[in-house]
Amino acid sequence: MNYKEEILKLKKEKNAVILAHYYQIPEIQDIADYLGDSLYLAQIAEKLKEKIIVLAGVYFMAETVKMLAPEKKVILPDRDAGCSLADSCKAEDFIKFKEKYPDYIVISYVNTTAEIKALTDICCTSSNALQIVDSLPKNQKIIFAPDRNLGNYINSKTERNMVVWDGACHVHEEFSVEKIIQLKKENPDAKILAHPECKKPLLIIADHIGSTSSLLKFAKTDVSLKYIVATESGIIHQMKKENPEKTFIPAPPIDSTCGCNDCKYMKMITLEKVYHSLKNESPEIIMDKKLIEKAVIPIKKMLELSAKLKI
Ligand code: SF4
Repeated sequence: MNYKEEILKLKKEKNAVILAHYYQIPEIQDIADYLGDSLYLAQIAEKLKEKIIVLAGVYFMAETVKMLAPEKKVILPDRDAGCSLADSCKAEDFIKFKEKYPDYIVISYVNTTAEIKALTDICCTSSNALQIVDSLPKNQKIIFAPDRNLGNYINSKTERNMVVWDGACHVHEEFSVEKIIQLKKENPDAKILAHPECKKPLLIIADHIGSTSSLLKFAKTDVSLKYIVATESGIIHQMKKENPEKTFIPAPPIDSTCGCNDCKYMKMITLEKVYHSLKNESPEIIMDKKLIEKAVIPIKKMLELSAKLKI
């Protein structure tokens, strides 16, 4: 079966739209109606006219889209496509943690469950986290969750002392600084691009640190011809498409046999699963209305602030 053709037919018949994250496999990125990072996918969700939204990404992204477009049928082609970062912050633990800091506000990444969002004041993504934190008064006490690397990076950039939840993403934690330094020695003309979820020693040697969108923009506008890319490998597809004359080398993980620079959750989505999920309109994201009412507040706050800050 030619899944691509069948998906395009079904999409038309069913008045559906496909949203995909940059970490998806190239075949999925190429059939998406909208392709982007978590912030872009959230920004676009509210504006969609179609009845059915297929989210080619992971569970928290599908939940976020559902909360922003509750009247739409939101489908995630594989219900098990989770996120190790979201898993590292459980609501029951976070409630106890929050109790220790009663006069703090909570800023949390969208890479969290809806239950954590319901305990959050403002959401953020790697595209806007720094600016959102920076937009708050200097004396504002903040809990930042769940990514410790991004939280510590923001603390160092903004000279704040946010209390940071001790969570991490399995992909961004696994890059080997030693192997990257060796790669740089072999390719002295290559610049190192790193996502702020990477560990500090890697961020120190990076030439540019930024969200997936920021890394894409840098690769397009920078004059170099070679880059070592320390984020999920899916982004390299767009980098190559936009810059066919440049070379992009995926940064090696500590264990080179593990394929850790591929997010195993993002890579669960295949063309075949997109086809079946669209055909059967399942698995659908079903959420409790009361939970949506609470958890959507910090997402909307993030979107308002992003619009105000022109991000
Ligand atoms: S790359 Fe990391 S943060 Fe992103 S979805 Fe995968 S596990 Fe979650």
